[in-house]
Amino acid sequence: MNFYNILRLWAGRIPRPLKFLGLWYMHVSGRRMIGVYLDPVLGCNLRCRMCYFSDSEKRRQLHGSMTGEQLGHCADALFHRALKLQIGCGAEPTLYKRLDEVIRRGKESGIPYVSLTTNGMLIVSGKTALDTLVKSGLDELTLSMHGTSRSIYEELMPGADYDSLLKLLNIIAEIKQTYPSFKVRVNFTVNSLNKDDLRDNRFLGIWQDGCLPDIVQIRPVQNIGDSEWRDFDLTTIVEDYDATVGNVVERCRQAGITCIAPTRDNLLEVATPQDGYDSLLESVCYCYVSPTHCYKNDFDSVSDSYESYHRRRHTAAVLLGAVFRNPGSKKRNVSKKLNYKIK
Ligand code: SF4
Repeated sequence: MNFYNILRLWAGRIPRPLKFLGLWYMHVSGRRMIGVYLDPVLGCNLRCRMCYFSDSEKRRQLHGSMTGEQLGHCADALFHRALKLQIGCGAEPTLYKRLDEVIRRGKESGIPYVSLTTNGMLIVSGKTALDTLVKSGLDELTLSMHGTSRSIYEELMPGADYDSLLKLLNIIAEIKQTYPSFKVRVNFTVNSLNKDDLRDNRFLGIWQDGCLPDIVQIRPVQNIGDSEWRDFDLTTIVEDYDATVGNVVERCRQAGITCIAPTRDNLLEVATPQDGYDSLLESVCYCYVSPTHCYKNDFDSVSDSYESYHRRRHTAAVLLGAVFRNPGSKKRNVSKKLNYKIK
């Protein structure tokens, strides 16, 4: 079972006490149950307008690259409990020189699914060889692509160029012919400027025949702070929903593509705080690692392992306690991420 299936199960109808009983069992029996989200380098070659890399102050703050030693500690401490390794979460991982080594370590540690999120520009320039990454064990590439027409793509993703995007789609098509099980996911953040790129056949039309993406993920723009983009009003997207987001959902359904997208109602919802159960689930299963952070603030990245940390924190008892009562929460994130429909 992969990490997303666990989350889908979580979002399903099984009563929460039973879910936590299952989670407790996986935790104490040493089963794989976490997602490792790894930014091996804190930097990006682009300055996307909806991203904090468009902000010069934020760019100054975000820098650094994981050393081989840091990577080794992280792999030893966490990879044996991971269901999924997601490389590239809030930065561009193809800037990292040891990327194939990260993927290889993940697969050698038995992680069932290794995914890379990238804007793909350094693959086109030849600095990163996609076939080497796939040979190393990469299961999936998630392409960040916030426009499908030349003008919108280049307007929203300064530093990227449309001709390179088209070349990238050709490279992906060739790789998929050699490795048919290799998956491609598209990550598209919709806003008032690019919503029209979801009309008609504009979204899937730029992909080669016989080489469509396997998964499409559409999210509404959200205010993450410190970005150049300031228009977070979703009114026009809601008004044009059927012809834009809904249109892509339907076209994906017809083409057999998994589409993860908000419904019109999701777009109208106000973000809600996580409750204690969801906070606990995220706290145990979501594991973020970067050159400056490893899992938790009190996780010793040199001497701790997943097990030693959770023994110290009495996590098994906390999970078992959640079977009988709401764990409550000190940390309340605001999130819409589990509300989207998968079609
Ligand atoms: S490619 Fe990704 S990390 Fe880089 S600026 Fe764009 S959204 Fe941000």
